[in-house]
Amino acid sequence: MDKTTQLIHHPYQPPDGYSAPQPGVFKASTIFFPNTRTMRARYFDELGHQYTYGTKGTPTTFLLEERLCTLEGGTYCSLVPSGLAAITLVNFALLKAGDEVLLPSNVYGPSKVLASSEMSHFGISFISYDAMNPQDLEDKISPKTKLVWLEAPGSITMEFPDLPTLLNICKAKGILTALDNTWGAGLAFNPFEFDQENGKVQGVDISVHALTKYPSGGGDVLMGSVITRDDALFKLIKLCHMRMGYHVGVNDIESILRSLPSMALRYKAHDVVAKQLAMWLSNRAEVVQVLHPALESSPGHVHWKAVCKNDHAAGLFSIMLDPKYSKEQIDAFCDTLKLFKLGFSWGGPVSLVVPYDVKSIRGGTLPDTLKSGHLVRFSIGLEAVEDLQADLVQAMQAAFN
Ligand SMILES: *Cc1c(COP(=O)(O)O)cnc(C)c1O
Repeated sequence: MDKTTQLIHHPYQPPDGYSAPQPGVFKASTIFFPNTRTMRARYFDELGHQYTYGTKGTPTTFLLEERLCTLEGGTYCSLVPSGLAAITLVNFALLKAGDEVLLPSNVYGPSKVLASSEMSHFGISFISYDAMNPQDLEDKISPKTKLVWLEAPGSITMEFPDLPTLLNICKAKGILTALDNTWGAGLAFNPFEFDQENGKVQGVDISVHALTKYPSGGGDVLMGSVITRDDALFKLIKLCHMRMGYHVGVNDIESILRSLPSMALRYKAHDVVAKQLAMWLSNRAEVVQVLHPALESSPGHVHWKAVCKNDHAAGLFSIMLDPKYSKEQIDAFCDTLKLFKLGFSWGGPVSLVVPYDVKSIRGGTLPDTLKSGHLVRFSIGLEAVEDLQADLVQAMQAAFN
């Protein structure tokens, strides 16, 4: 046999009995079948973990899917290349021309852009509802409505909705629900089951998670997941996943698997420092309002308290600065921060800041508190609280005096 062939068909097998904290990394496009009978018996559209082709997963893929199901309380998981790809997958798997989808008015921005572009080109319409007004959701559900998106709290303005009430409205009308669970991350509450006075109520049908944030924890890897407990829904999602050619690289999966064991500790650390800084900022003269669900003055605080029984509130909050400051002063404040870097996303070790013009990111009627003034959003990293506080003080002094 030629050396080349010998190297490709080499008979050596490593000994059994290898075991270590991190799992092996299995990469493949081609996966070998032992014989034609097995090859013919394996179909691409069956539920459950099967080896057929790289896009359908390797042992490494299935391991992360199972761990994410445990994290979020689901049964089935599909991995996709980003959080936004997870939102896209749900929409394209469940909706068709003529259907309507409802989005909260404080939805993650790119989700609304997708709805108003490709989805509308394909004949799927969308309307926004006020997530803080359950009656508004109820009024906007029509015979065309096929899916309601939820987010807790809303992006950037951080209002925490009454999730159980919104879910009950959808369930009563037989409408599917999908939650963007990136903030809760499977740690703040179980999206598939809510405790209420009269026992447990069934939660959302689908949970979407931008693993880019807390599961990655590094500010380096992009990935998303779609999780459900329902066989029929999973089948629709899995088929769409296959037809659209979604796949996630195994080296990225390895990174997430390495970060997951420290996720709860990191989440708690971000949470503690974010609460301390949010509380401290709420007493500063420059700040009109702090938007952080754990603060009583923040919209939806009571709903946060009812759903996040363990007091978890992640590492994210926004502030409204006094309207007397100019846009240039707000930009100077953000530019003068040293430890807080200007950048999107969250969940990594480095604290981040982004100034937002609320009117340009939100349609519909704005609550009074958001009508004037400038919003600045902070993502708290893993730095020491006193260093972050000193950084905020020096930037405020430089920009606002
Ligand atoms: C970041 C984020 C997404 C999108 O995740 P990417 O991986 O950046 O595409 C979706 N929803 C929320 C709430 C997010 O914060």
